[in-house]
Amino acid sequence: ASPLSDRLKAMNESATIAMAKKCRELIAKGFDVINLSFGEPDFQTPQYIKDAAKQALDDGFTFYTPVPGIPELRQAICDKFKRDNELEYLPNQIVVSTGAKQSLANAVLSLVNPGDEVIVFSPYWVSYEEMVKLAEGTSVPLVGTLENEYKVTAAQLEAAITERTKLIMYSSPCNPTGAVFNRQELGEIAAVMARHPHVYALADEIYEYINFVGEHVSLAQFPEVSERVITVNGFSKGYAMTGWRLGYLAARPDIASACEKIQSQITSGTCSITQRAGLAALRGGRASADEMVEAYRRRRDLVLDIVKDIPGFKTPTPSGAFYIFPEVSAYFGRTAPDGSTIHNSLDLSMYLLNDALVSAVSGDAFGAPECIRFSTAAADDKLVEAFRRVKASLAKL
Ligand code: PLP
Repeated sequence: ASPLSDRLKAMNESATIAMAKKCRELIAKGFDVINLSFGEPDFQTPQYIKDAAKQALDDGFTFYTPVPGIPELRQAICDKFKRDNELEYLPNQIVVSTGAKQSLANAVLSLVNPGDEVIVFSPYWVSYEEMVKLAEGTSVPLVGTLENEYKVTAAQLEAAITERTKLIMYSSPCNPTGAVFNRQELGEIAAVMARHPHVYALADEIYEYINFVGEHVSLAQFPEVSERVITVNGFSKGYAMTGWRLGYLAARPDIASACEKIQSQITSGTCSITQRAGLAALRGGRASADEMVEAYRRRRDLVLDIVKDIPGFKTPTPSGAFYIFPEVSAYFGRTAPDGSTIHNSLDLSMYLLNDALVSAVSGDAFGAPECIRFSTAAADDKLVEAFRRVKASLAKL
């Protein structure tokens, strides 16, 4: 019999990581695969941030740090919230972790009891569902419509809340859709939450800086619910620091302490060097991010321009992040040149990997089985080539 726990058996492997693995296998065999399956900036971490890490090493800053982060960094995060989001937090409300991913897991494990319902705005980021499962909660996907750029409405939320609802979870800007909630929409969601005082929200703002519409609104800005909102953010996307592993959350002091307690038993504080790098990143402001955003915007427009001529792709215009998420169900039921049938988006993404040598992720993993996610965080010429190939391969179906 397998020694593995029921908890583990119930868990899915991260679909994006699985796709990246297949992609690497093909590359190792010599195929010229263009990998658009990863949610990773292709930019280097800015030099001033790397310099701070080198300095930390030279300073011998190599010891354990406090579990919720070094005091200067927690203060700098409070300063950032004030500067960018008009949110007033004290350092004891900030928990620094090994990435937004850990911050999300800390919050879910701190709040969710077995049987609690977690309303997950769908399409959602792959790990939300699995985190809820780990906490033995029940995830309740709430699906936005294509016409509304997949954004869940306040009316939908109102209808989905039950006595068992503990938490709602969403990302804005959204991975995978690129949708951004505006002030009016979040205000309406806050008004629904205000009527249901047992409901908390986990707002994932990791793509905050990668925003093409300008205004980023935090749910915590609405005073009637701010005490019940946990805001998650990090350095991976805005500062191109995926490998450093640095993220954070801000919450009411009792919730922040709970997250610290969980983290203290699992990982302790994140890497000391990384925290010094993060401190430099925040002190440097967001100029480096703003430069990257211009590139992401150019690439989004480049890709949308090709994709609009692909028959059967229905692609909302992303307002942020670095993905496109076309609805592709027009291809379901078609026959590939080898005689096989494309039943679903998993078949279609496999076909594109094998025929176009372009790797993307099937929408199933995001709760949207009729869609496919392509990352647009790649060099312009690679993107043009990738979507040229995708278009040619789809024409054979
Ligand atoms: N949240 C969303 C929506 C993401 O897309 C990602 C990374 O892909 C994360 C969180 C995790 O970020 P981090 O690298 O900070 O753990």
